Amino acid sequence: MGTDQQTMDKPCPHGSTAPHWDNAQDFGKHDLISYYICEACGAHLSPEERERATAVAAEGVRIDDSLRKTTEEMLEGEKRGDV
Ligand SMILES: [Zn+2]
Repeated sequence: MGTDQQTMDKPCPHGSTAPHWDNAQDFGKHDLISYYICEACGAHLSPEERERATAVAAEGVRIDDSLRKTTEEMLEGEKRGDV
């Protein structure tokens, strides 16, 4: 029994993250990012975790995009009509 139960009911997709550098002199260097901070929930994500979260988000976008493309192709075919 714990008090951290309420944070578990809806997992955050960590879709929007900001990079963080431990050393100020490394700022801006992608290879040296210490971790990412989720702008939605404030969680610290390792570059690996962040990559996974981004991949999941991209997957959703890609599915959405292919659906839209199919619709566009259908409309295009309709426009050409009886060719
Ligand atoms: Zn998050």
